[in-house]
Amino acid sequence: MTATITLVQGDITRQSADAIVNAANSSLLGGGGVDGAIHRRGGPEILAECRALRASLPHSRLRSSGGTPIGRGLPTGQAVATTAGRLDARWVIHTVGPVHQASGGDPALLASCYREALRVADELGARTVAFPAISTGVYRWPMDDAARIAVETVRDTPTAVEEVRFVLFDDRAYEAFVRQLG
Ligand code: ADP
Repeated sequence: MTATITLVQGDITRQSADAIVNAANSSLLGGGGVDGAIHRRGGPEILAECRALRASLPHSRLRSSGGTPIGRGLPTGQAVATTAGRLDARWVIHTVGPVHQASGGDPALLASCYREALRVADELGARTVAFPAISTGVYRWPMDDAARIAVETVRDTPTAVEEVRFVLFDDRAYEAFVRQLG
């Protein structure tokens, strides 16, 4: 089975879903964009669980997009789940998108975010999952290409999740996803 894809324009922190996906960074300690909004509205419980999760991850050579070593962290393309705090959801699934550099970005890693988030959703038993357009903000992935990878990956990933809802913040993102759904 694959999920039915729906599109909504709006703020992902206002959505009601079994799981809400966070475009996190490797540190799992919060950031801007979707990440900041989820922690602001979801409350401190989510960050507390992120800290505990982070402590259980192995030390790595990961660096932040600014080049600072982050010590322990979640590698790009992987996903982990926490409680959703005060959000109208049971879980937040945190995944780390790849940064798009002048030289490009690795599309396999962006696809991996969607696949891994769905794998975690299946482990949890989530039936509705809300996704932002991962990597298209601070991580600068071009919107049309990111929308194509997101839609193709969800269409190609077997899952028991019934609805994947892309929650697009602005017209530009919403229209890019509409074009992909054809
Ligand atoms: P990344 O670091 O993976 O690029 P960002 O959070 O910076 O993640 O941005 C990812 C996308 O989410 C961007 O298109 C951005 O406009 C959008 N976005 C930012 N805030 C929200 C929100 N509250 N709800 C939904 N989408 C959001």
